Amino acid sequence: MKKRIMAEFEAEKFLSKYIPIVKGRLIKSLDGVNINLIKKYPCVLKIISKDALHKSDVNGVRIVRSMDELKKNFIELQDVAKKRGFRLDGILVQEFVEGKEIIIGINNDETFGHVLMLGIGGIFVELLKDVSFRVCPITSHDARSMINELEGRNLLHGFRSKPVNLRLLERTLIKVSKIPMKHRNLLELDINPFIINEKIGKVVDARMVFWDKK
Ligand code: ADP
Ligand code: MG
Repeated sequence: MKKRIMAEFEAEKFLSKYIPIVKGRLIKSLDGVNINLIKKYPCVLKIISKDALHKSDVNGVRIVRSMDELKKNFIELQDVAKKRGFRLDGILVQEFVEGKEIIIGINNDETFGHVLMLGIGGIFVELLKDVSFRVCPITSHDARSMINELEGRNLLHGFRSKPVNLRLLERTLIKVSKIPMKHRNLLELDINPFIINEKIGKVVDARMVFWDKK
């Protein structure tokens, strides 16, 4: 069996059936039509290619604050892809989301089957390995305890800022945990990050790996 990888744009399209996804459009050129459709700054530009799954590593994610910056960075990103020989699907223009960064993942474990992972982005996951796990699918009680097990939970509960929408986070975790029931061939899901604030929460980056059925 072969693995099938979905880079960000495709993975987000898949996930949009289940959970909130940031607004974004994949564009191939910077003509007037495309530029005029962008109504709000800042926005985020990203290289989308199966050859660049870690976009920041190749300087492939840019926050732009004006139309001029947009044009300049769009051309720069196309150059990055060209120089490195990436097969470019396009440049993703995304709405900017303000909030706390959450990591939500699924792995298919040999013993436990599909396992859901939750962490808070940044040093909590990278340095402190502050993550919680549950076997899929989870209940709302599981979702709450997964959040409360995290050392960094105070960041979500409103330490020096407003608490994030925990109900939305719980609902999102439950929905994600049910995806493998419909898609047994899911091998890996990596939502990094899901950005959440006191009102909204949205996936702004995702990657998925499936066993190809063919
Ligand atoms: P990578 O492939 O490097 O993981 P990401 O799409 O996750 O690329 O972008 C890198 C970082 O940029 C994210 O971790 C987040 O901090 C920030 N970022 C990406 N997209 C957005 C967005 N739409 N709104 C706000 N911040 C974003
Ligand atoms: Mg990411």
